[in-house]
Amino acid sequence: MNSFAFHNPTRIIFGAGTLDKLGEQLAAFGTKTALLVYGGGSIKQSGLYDRVLQQLEQAGVRTVELAGIEPNPRVSTVRKGIELCRAHDVDFILAVGGGSVLDAAKAVAVGVPYEGDVWDFLIRKAQIQSALPLGTVLTLSATGSEMNGNSVITNWEENLKKSFGSIHAYPKFSILDPTLTYSVPANQTVNGIVDTMSHVFEQYFSLTTDTPLQERLCESILQTVIENGEKALAQPDNYEARANLMLCSTYALNGGMISVGMQQDWATHMIEHEVSAIYDIAHAAGLSVLFPNWMTYVHGERLDRFVQYAVRVWNIDPSGKSDEEVARAGIQATRDYFTRIGAPSRLSELNIGDDQLERMAEETVGFGPVGSFRKLQAGDVLEILRSSL
Ligand code: NAP
Ligand code: FE
Repeated sequence: MNSFAFHNPTRIIFGAGTLDKLGEQLAAFGTKTALLVYGGGSIKQSGLYDRVLQQLEQAGVRTVELAGIEPNPRVSTVRKGIELCRAHDVDFILAVGGGSVLDAAKAVAVGVPYEGDVWDFLIRKAQIQSALPLGTVLTLSATGSEMNGNSVITNWEENLKKSFGSIHAYPKFSILDPTLTYSVPANQTVNGIVDTMSHVFEQYFSLTTDTPLQERLCESILQTVIENGEKALAQPDNYEARANLMLCSTYALNGGMISVGMQQDWATHMIEHEVSAIYDIAHAAGLSVLFPNWMTYVHGERLDRFVQYAVRVWNIDPSGKSDEEVARAGIQATRDYFTRIGAPSRLSELNIGDDQLERMAEETVGFGPVGSFRKLQAGDVLEILRSSL
């Protein structure tokens, strides 16, 4: 196990009815004017918008709105939010939605006090020094953005999707009310399951040794998601299933709590970002296609971890099988589960052909080779993309 420091400053307020705590949270930060950030309208359809406005009014908070955050949020929209904050003296950012809304809100929060263009943070031209305070009401279990300092933003003009991570971008609080996810449609529920599992994979498949607690934390999140994912799909208003998925997605990526002292990978996320930068597909659709193929490509680096994964997570019986066979059975079980819940397994299902593969591979390694389980160069990324067609 490696040495580490861990600090997560986000207050989590979890459970049915916790939206009613929003007003008092805003008041605790002395909020006068809030920027309310939301997406394409799901919060209006569900009635959540009205409930949030009521909380803001009760707390005496003036509200400015940034509506229409796109799935795969765009830097052009973030820039509009920054202008609104400056024009109206906004002192708090409130994000209500899924990961895209939260990520856009974080980019606005770090962009307001910065004199240059916010895209500088995404291309690592500048370092984040401060941010407006941010709170969130989460409506979709997937990204972990509610309890981490990460944000993924697309520059559509340049077909780039890049991310930043900063201690300044952690939400001050996040309200996690599982009943707000009852209305998430089946395809987005599937996306959330795949993204959560992928976040665990990025940490669990590590070369670091002697980390039994972290490995079991990862395995138990995976098993809990596998069980409760199918329950939530069968019954969207099953509170226990939605609550367990919400807790799992939040723990899966909250500043590395489950993988302290472990080297993380993240190559598959980096590859996926370049796919969705060009094709605007759902993040998790890309991950569903790519992850089992990444596993197949790299599993020889550390067969024992893949054997452990197969046996502990998928209950593969190792008797009479070679380690290679057990590892491959675990990878196949992953693919089969994704297929069973309706997630894609080939890029062609997403209408993606082979014409942009080289460009995606080059862009993936734009800041240097990706991954640590196996360091991938452009040629490796290209092979994984080709095997995904
Ligand atoms: P999302 O893009 O935020 O939302 C997907 C869709 O679900 C939207 O159309 C949204 O509609 C709808 N939706 C959200 N909540 C709903 C509800 N309660 N009922 C009905 N519909 C609902 O999905 P996401 O998977 O959470 O976020 C994906 C983004 O996060 C990607 O850009 C990905 O790259 C990024 N990401 C970030 C991190 C991180 O750590 N920050 C990690 C992984 C991925 P509305 O727009 O109408 O609300
Ligand atoms: Fe993700």
